[in-house]
Amino acid sequence: MVYEQAYAYGSQGSAIRALFEYGRQRAALVGREKICDFSLGNPSTPPPQAVLEAFRSVLEEDPMATHGYTSAVGCDELRSALAESLTRRFGMAFAPGDLFITCGAAPALTACFGALTLGHETEFIALAPFFPEYKVFAETFGGKLRVVPADEKDFQIDFAALEGTLNPRTQAVVINSPNNPSGVVYTEETLRKLGELLRQKSREAGHPIYLISDEPYRELTYGGVKTPFVPDYYDDTLVCYSWSKCLSLPGDRLGYVLVPEKAADAKKVFAAVAGASRMLGHVCAPSLIQKAVARCVDVMPDLRVYEKNRNLLLEALPKMGYECAKPDGAFYLFFRAPWGDGASFGAAAKEKDLLAVPAGSFGCPNHLRIAYCVDTEVVERSLPVFEALIKEKR
Ligand code: PLP
Repeated sequence: MVYEQAYAYGSQGSAIRALFEYGRQRAALVGREKICDFSLGNPSTPPPQAVLEAFRSVLEEDPMATHGYTSAVGCDELRSALAESLTRRFGMAFAPGDLFITCGAAPALTACFGALTLGHETEFIALAPFFPEYKVFAETFGGKLRVVPADEKDFQIDFAALEGTLNPRTQAVVINSPNNPSGVVYTEETLRKLGELLRQKSREAGHPIYLISDEPYRELTYGGVKTPFVPDYYDDTLVCYSWSKCLSLPGDRLGYVLVPEKAADAKKVFAAVAGASRMLGHVCAPSLIQKAVARCVDVMPDLRVYEKNRNLLLEALPKMGYECAKPDGAFYLFFRAPWGDGASFGAAAKEKDLLAVPAGSFGCPNHLRIAYCVDTEVVERSLPVFEALIKEKR
């Protein structure tokens, strides 16, 4: 006998991972140069030089400190450097005690959902298109995830639909900007309206409705667009961050939860985040990477390859007739299936060895996502395939 829910999560896997595994097998069979694999959001640029040097310098120091446990909340060097950097960059005062260091955004998010779950009635709201793992994260401690349909006009927020879904059982709304899978960055106006709505609904519910801001792509923006800092728009915001994408360190596993002091019951929420992490088996994030990142908290990603790929796709696909969301950030392009639905178009693309993820599990079954964090050569090779696909059913 096994835990049914765990068995279901473990045996079903995710559509993204399944396509990625297919890509690996197909590459072994026909050669990687024959396929255009846009399945996985795995950064394709190496970590910045300063980060690699920081790793080396930590390794040359006291091995007992480098390889020993740190405090569960994270090591002092990282929390202090980070608090100072965030204060300077975003003009809001943060202290090391506001930061809980995690093994990436996924456990940070799960800990936030866990900290806010009151029982099986607890609801969380995600806005389509959304990262499919939110459902697993929200359900881990017994909550439910409700999904607000996408505003397919511009992939900002359908406020009427959100207002209709918020209710007194809602404990938090989770947002992700720049967004996976749409690449869209929420505007200041969107965040202002969201803040107003959540303040009003919190008053009506008689308790704070938190905003969980999932920000692994915060620093990945293009064309002069900047990601607005979400706690500026709503006090009761918990920020979940990760260095997976920004510093190209997804396998090293490092991120944090920021609970700003001005958030309602901040101290209690922070302790509950720590408790939920403990319940998930968190001991501490790896010491080596904590100490290395403490030395380069201000290092920014090199976006040149992503920007080149994005521009190539954005120039070519709409001319062929593809309808794309405006990808101001992250490294994803989201397009409407030009015929059929996302799944049938994805299957036709797969037959031509072009791997795009149908967006049903992101809450947009008529769309597909391509992760353009690949070599530019792959993007160039994919363009005739995109052209052939759209012509096929005209
Ligand atoms: N949130 C979003 C929107 C993501 O795209 C990802 C990873 O792709 C995560 C969270 C998880 O990030 P991490 O690797 O830091 O756990």
